Amino acid sequence: MSNLKGRVALVTGAARGIGLATARALGRAGASVMLTDILDTDGQNAVAALEGEDIKARYLRHDVTDEAAWQNAVAATEKAFGGLDILVNNAGIFFAKPMGETTIEEFRRMQAINVDGVFLGMKTAAPAIAKRAGKWQGGGAIVNLSSVAGLAGAALAVPYNASKGAVRIMTKGAALELAPQKIRVNSVHPGVIETKMGQQVIDDMAAVGVMGGANEVRENLVTLHPIGHFGLPADVANGIVFLSSDEAAFITGTELVVDGGMTAR
Ligand code: NAP
Repeated sequence: MSNLKGRVALVTGAARGIGLATARALGRAGASVMLTDILDTDGQNAVAALEGEDIKARYLRHDVTDEAAWQNAVAATEKAFGGLDILVNNAGIFFAKPMGETTIEEFRRMQAINVDGVFLGMKTAAPAIAKRAGKWQGGGAIVNLSSVAGLAGAALAVPYNASKGAVRIMTKGAALELAPQKIRVNSVHPGVIETKMGQQVIDDMAAVGVMGGANEVRENLVTLHPIGHFGLPADVANGIVFLSSDEAAFITGTELVVDGGMTAR
């Protein structure tokens, strides 16, 4: 198991789903974790649950589209835990519908959260992470949540494709730019994961009627995963812990696909 004792992590969108599982997995590996989100009650309950497991955790309200909120989140993390070593850009939104029914405002809102949020996070956190990246064999780490939709097209999800494709290639640019500062930057590409967003994928597809009702959509989507089921948040979190650790010291600018074999076809 990776040892992150002494590290400090900031995880966005951490009140539930993959973000919460990531905060828990980083904490179990020894890191102190700042959980941020816009869901305050869920975020505070998440911290209470982690503290019950002896994980050092705090919650902060933080909208990832807001640059001033990013500056506040990084400063609050340094103040609470003495530094910042790991950033997980996890917050994101999804919707599926035909392009003809999608407004430019909906397209831009998705880019604001899924793309601007990742850019602002890397921009704001990198100077803080660089301060003590030399302390760790594997340096500092940034992990960005992309998707299988950042690797291949998905009908009815063109705005999401745009956002997750951007995250994939922004990650590579940032990896090159931040390597001299001993900060590694990698992207993670989940298939369908059992979270509220995973359920929204099913509900939106069912609403459009392309694969039948919700039960048929679920069955059809499961068949896309050769392993035979959707992933769990912890499946993604375990990969993020690895990429954050010294065990990944020579890994930067790469893509970790966590999709039950979906894109191996
Ligand atoms: P989730 O359960 O919907 O959790 C995402 C969290 O981010 C929610 O708490 C959400 O709050 C929050 N959030 C949304 N907008 C935000 C903002 N502007 N600032 C801060 N937080 C915000 O989603 P998930 O399934 O855990 O997904 C996590 C990441 O993995 C996302 O980037 C997603 O695109 C990616 N991913 C997920 C899947 C999947 O199947 N689940 C597959 C591939 C990739 P609200 O409820 O208020 O929106």
